[in-house]
Amino acid sequence: MGNALDHASTLAQLREVLASPRRVVIVTHHNPDGDAIGSSLGLKHLLSAAGHIATVVLPNAAPSFLSGLPGVGDAICFDREPERAKAELEQAEWLFCLDFNRMDRVGNALQTDLAGRTLPRVLIDHHQDPDPTFTIALSDTGACATCQLIADLIAPMGWSALLNKEVATCLYTGLVTDSGSFRFRSTTAHTMRVAALLMEHGVEIERVHQSISDDNSEERLRLLGLLLSERMTVMAEHGVVLLSLSKEDLERHGHRPGDTEGFVNYGLSMRGMRLSAFFVERQDHVKLSLRSKGTFAVDRFLRDHFDGGGHANAAGGQFKGDLHAAMERFRSLLPELLAQHAA
Ligand code: 5GP
Ligand code: MN
Repeated sequence: MGNALDHASTLAQLREVLASPRRVVIVTHHNPDGDAIGSSLGLKHLLSAAGHIATVVLPNAAPSFLSGLPGVGDAICFDREPERAKAELEQAEWLFCLDFNRMDRVGNALQTDLAGRTLPRVLIDHHQDPDPTFTIALSDTGACATCQLIADLIAPMGWSALLNKEVATCLYTGLVTDSGSFRFRSTTAHTMRVAALLMEHGVEIERVHQSISDDNSEERLRLLGLLLSERMTVMAEHGVVLLSLSKEDLERHGHRPGDTEGFVNYGLSMRGMRLSAFFVERQDHVKLSLRSKGTFAVDRFLRDHFDGGGHANAAGGQFKGDLHAAMERFRSLLPELLAQHAA
């Protein structure tokens, strides 16, 4: 299932766009994860090898566990070097939007800049409900990762000879991170075939998995310890776990961006749990992450109540206010959510 490139007309449009050498900028979502960075860099390497000029513009920096990916140092971070990023955007003929479905996912600063540009836009993404205004849209919510969609582009775009170790390593990284190391239900036989293809082109499996999994700082591990021992509420009768960290908790542990990535999954790792909710207090809002199992969908709930969205079993949102208020609001809405998914 789920090869988006059955969409022949989208493919034909893409081929036409790239029939002559183009200057393109690739953007991805704010707080880019393994799939965002892996797909952006993978596509950049492919486009460059195919004779185009491609630059990756990230809203903000890649987390440290991705700092070894080939080409990550050449990506421009909009928050650090806005003028350089704007100069690239000024010259670009096409904008490729990877691993997000709506322009607000690139963060305020970059969104504002892009809103003032008339660049035609290509979407390549796997999130629900993509904005319908993209010039060309390759959207497949059945794909476990945007990296899988990029890999699926390789043969039909005539790029097979360009698939080298660099490209394969970038794409494999996103496959691994977005599929939870090939364990989420979005992982299909096709995903495994894509992974095999990438392995055949040089991915060093052990190295990639180690750099993804074994990159904890001491502070992050201690913050996780605090979360699990003192900031976790278990509602065993409902199969729900609530996890939270306040601004003070983060400060006390010398918090760095990305440190709380993946924490929400610990809630679901407890026997009998089907919903894990993780609240992190930021400067003026609270970031909420939900993870669930099976048919317990959470994306609509976050879209309706927390200005968010994502996938059925993994979605995020935000709440304007402090941690206490965010959790109160969630608790007040929880019975409604649980009622939709009676055990
Ligand atoms: P996370 O909880 O790890 O931040 O995000 C889980 C999934 O939900 C990711 O696929 C992410 O792209 C999506 N997501 C997270 N936050 C938001 C949000 O505020 N809005 C939307 N539309 N999607 C989000
Ligand atoms: Mn993704």
